[in-house]
Amino acid sequence: MNNIAIYLRISVLEKGNLGHTEDTINSQRNIIKNFIFNDQELKKASIEEFIDEGYSGSSTSRPGLDKLLLKVRQQKIDCIIVKDMSRFMRNYIEMGDYLENIFPFMGVRFIAVNDGYDSSKEVQNGTELDIQFKNLLNDYYSRDVSEKMTTALLTAKKQGKYTSGTPPYGYLKDPEDNYKLIVDEKVAGNIRYIFQLILEGYSLNETAKILNSEGVMTARARRQEIQGYDSYANRWDSTVEQTIWSASMVRRILKNETYTGTFVFNKTTKSKLDGGKVIYHPEEEWIKIYDNHEAIVDKEIFDEVNGILKSRRKNDALRGSKSKYKNSPLATFVRCNKCGYKIRFNKSSNGKELVGINLYCYHCRMLEQEEKLPHYKELEKDIFEILKDKFHTDKTEKKKLLDEQKELYDRNDQLLKKKRIEFENYKFGKISREDFVEIKDQILELIESNKERIQEIDEELKHAGSIEGLTDDVVKKYIKRIYISSKGIERIEYA
Ligand SMILES: [Zn+2]
Repeated sequence: MNNIAIYLRISVLEKGNLGHTEDTINSQRNIIKNFIFNDQELKKASIEEFIDEGYSGSSTSRPGLDKLLLKVRQQKIDCIIVKDMSRFMRNYIEMGDYLENIFPFMGVRFIAVNDGYDSSKEVQNGTELDIQFKNLLNDYYSRDVSEKMTTALLTAKKQGKYTSGTPPYGYLKDPEDNYKLIVDEKVAGNIRYIFQLILEGYSLNETAKILNSEGVMTARARRQEIQGYDSYANRWDSTVEQTIWSASMVRRILKNETYTGTFVFNKTTKSKLDGGKVIYHPEEEWIKIYDNHEAIVDKEIFDEVNGILKSRRKNDALRGSKSKYKNSPLATFVRCNKCGYKIRFNKSSNGKELVGINLYCYHCRMLEQEEKLPHYKELEKDIFEILKDKFHTDKTEKKKLLDEQKELYDRNDQLLKKKRIEFENYKFGKISREDFVEIKDQILELIESNKERIQEIDEELKHAGSIEGLTDDVVKKYIKRIYISSKGIERIEYA
């Protein structure tokens, strides 16, 4: 234990009535110092004070606290001591986050003297609040002061002030006013893109896959970037889903009304018992404030997308299986001639059935260099014609090849027969040895050349096929890549 931070705070109210409160900065300091000097280990450490005068415990931005937390992040603090938890933070959910996640992760010991709380004496699993702390929370909530705090929090929320811990992906806390949400321009486009993909007919799963394949930044990655550290790193339920996009993450975004500028609260409460178990309220009990902050997604688009999700669910339930639209057999083979990126075959639907497929290059679209690409039906027709010309062998042609092959086999049989006869002629002295060797070599040479032609025909027959339509199998058999532009097919690489 090397560096101890003492945190001292009094609110405006307390400051204005100094004579009436016993909890002055001085008295807090005395209680903490007394505690330190009675501890063999702590009294050896160096002490630094962080003071906030005239700030409430629910204010999220306090110069003293900010300075202290900065030093924590810089790993210059080993231990934080406060007189009681409410001095440090009034919002117990946030307090819980610090005690459960942030401080253990940063290796910081936390002591609240009058609450009898010392993190080094807690069960070291860093995930569960221990009984002592639960009791403490209950205690807070049974007190009048906590009732007032809850009311104040609710009033703030009713006025549209964002008081929850971390804003959703796509928003930031306004540095000018921590209760306000502002658009996070860096990732707001990703939110709109997710809504767009659903409108274009992609499923939640397909959408997540597209986001991953394009390396779209996840909420967790963005939070880490903003905070400067990964607050999930030591969470026991940290899963791979937090580093890549999943269908449920996509759904959570699509269903979050915050993106329409509406502030929704009272969706859940954290149980005052049970270490803060989340209780979900029915939708009728939700409270909404419209036009609370800048919208990222139009209300119309939000409603349309949620309608699509609802109808898909209904369809799935009716059919008892996931609806699977059939895409073009060319869908995975087409590239943009300009940039080389894979061309998107967007299945557009009216929410019930496939109504068409749109081709575009996402890469060029993002660079605002998009070209109008051929209609997928035209492209399919052209590719079909090309493949047919190049590879289709009709029945008579195929029969001709097979007949030729059969004839070559027969000829070789006859040549072998002739070789046997000539050998007997030589054996019975009808021809000389030299003559026999010459005839034998000629025969073997002929057989060899016939065999070569047989193999050639085999190859031809393998590639030749009857191409009656553009099926998945046909495309896979002959095509490696097709490059297209606004002019149509530019180049084909064959398999
Ligand atoms: Zn392109």
